[in-house]
Amino acid sequence: MLAEKLLLNVLIILMPVFIQSLFFENKNIRKSPYLCGVFQSISVFLSLVFSYEEGGLFWDLRYVPLVLAFLYGGPIAGGMVLVSYLATRSFMGGDLLLGYASGFLATIVPSLFMKKFWKFDAKKRIRTAVFVGFWPTFVMLVILVANIIINEATAEDTNRIMMNVAIFGAIQVFAVWVAVILNESLIEKEMMRKEILRAEKLNTLGELAASIAHEIRNPLTVVKGFLQMMHKQEKGDNYYYLSLVLTELGRAESIINDYLNFAKPQFEKLEDAELAKLLTEVTLLLEAFAAKEGVQVNVQLEWGVYVKTDRNQLKQALVNIIKNGIEATDEGGEVVISQASAGDYSYIVVSDTGKGMDSEQLARLGTLFYTTKDKGTGLGTSVSIKIIEAMGGTISYKSEPGVGTEVTVILPSKKKTPTEEEPRIDLPEIIVKEA
Ligand code: ADP
Ligand code: MG
Repeated sequence: MLAEKLLLNVLIILMPVFIQSLFFENKNIRKSPYLCGVFQSISVFLSLVFSYEEGGLFWDLRYVPLVLAFLYGGPIAGGMVLVSYLATRSFMGGDLLLGYASGFLATIVPSLFMKKFWKFDAKKRIRTAVFVGFWPTFVMLVILVANIIINEATAEDTNRIMMNVAIFGAIQVFAVWVAVILNESLIEKEMMRKEILRAEKLNTLGELAASIAHEIRNPLTVVKGFLQMMHKQEKGDNYYYLSLVLTELGRAESIINDYLNFAKPQFEKLEDAELAKLLTEVTLLLEAFAAKEGVQVNVQLEWGVYVKTDRNQLKQALVNIIKNGIEATDEGGEVVISQASAGDYSYIVVSDTGKGMDSEQLARLGTLFYTTKDKGTGLGTSVSIKIIEAMGGTISYKSEPGVGTEVTVILPSKKKTPTEEEPRIDLPEIIVKEA
């Protein structure tokens, strides 16, 4: 009988979440304490009305709305529910003092966790709520034990009451758990909706910026052409200035190109590109730069592995990643590029012994225009990520400040028989260890 009544109570407890998911889907529970307060107050009222009475004791899930209101709605919602509880309890009569005392006692733990609650992530919130949900059961137990001792209950009565406490405790914790999980899924849905809206906004902005960048590039090319002509003919003072102007113009042009590439990577010519060959070309390209920085580049390759891509795009992505590694590394350090395949995937690992990044920097990496360099653009990594993701690959960073960074690129690839293999190119000054 008790279990039946309590299960009806579970339904009452879950009602607010259902109503919210049906009619107030876009409301953030956290930001609408009054709404939460009203819902949970109705819930506490109904659960008291439908409580199970036995020997002057009322069994119901009144504390669940109290816990939920304090944790999810904060002090306002919690206060509203407490007032509703006290009012309803007064109307019900019986042992009022006990009712009031248990109500106030039950709020202690939830209100202690109230402030910290939203700092936790969803999983920890669920655990916390279930843990806090145990508290009212404990209060109930203490009150009942006190009651048994004072009234000198018979052994039979004591057994029955203890049995009831067990059923009550189990159902109450279950109710809290289900309600919290439903609440969290509502919160997640709301967050996802916001995230989608934000992404859409960014997308529109990005497209707008891309079209402007595109329009700027054309006049820039014309200006650059004429300046180059003037530069060639100039013999006087202006020669030096024109050189400077051309360098800066080149920089502006490459930023615009990078941005356009980020906004829309153009995969013009798809072909089967041999990864080892591509990496060799990239390394050759960066060799002079590495030498200037005093950084040694070591390569370990597996030949005969192919990826379907636009060679220039993948090259661009890898150049950006490797160049970052070289730039982060001090003179005398090294950058190791290793490539190997496993099944349908190829791994390219670029590790450097550079200055590394802390977790905050890692989190910002890949955001447009994030750079820590004087002459950096903060576009390289974003472009690389975009290209690799467009190829159906993934890229991940592991870094430790002062130790170095390891970038892992995973790309879908396939092996081909050696007969189809293209001729290899030699790497004159780079140490090549073949895997
Ligand atoms: P840029 O190179 O123009 O600064 P990127 O998007 O390529 O732009 O890189 C953004 C920032 O990420 C860099 O300024 C640097 O602080 C950090 N970073 C990227 N790769 C590494 C790396 N391998 N080691 C240390 N820091 C790195
Ligand atoms: Mg870079």
